[in-house]
Amino acid sequence: MGGAMSDAEVAARIEKDDGPLDETVLLKRSTGGTRRVYHDADDPCFNADDAGYRSGPERVTRREAQDREIAPCKGCVIGPDLPESHDNELYERARNFDPSVHDSLADVDLEGES
Ligand SMILES: [Zn+2]
Repeated sequence: MGGAMSDAEVAARIEKDDGPLDETVLLKRSTGGTRRVYHDADDPCFNADDAGYRSGPERVTRREAQDREIAPCKGCVIGPDLPESHDNELYERARNFDPSVHDSLADVDLEGES
């Protein structure tokens, strides 16, 4: 955890992001010297309006971010690595979980479930 990503890791992550190159993404302002990641503009994994960000996140196109060798965020752009389908199902349940409706993850109906 932490530290700069290797070029290979950045390239591997960019490969997983199949979003349109002219779509806007967010660059969270960095205070340290570590490489930044870009975030989904519509559904970022952080609060873009947080008062802690003086001028707000930088908005660039996905193409520009990738040209700058910035990797897509695992939290909101490509998601965590989930190789097992069983884990994917758990992840789906967690995504659809609504505490006002469901008592536990087992109560969550998965979309497309027959
Ligand atoms: Zn993110």
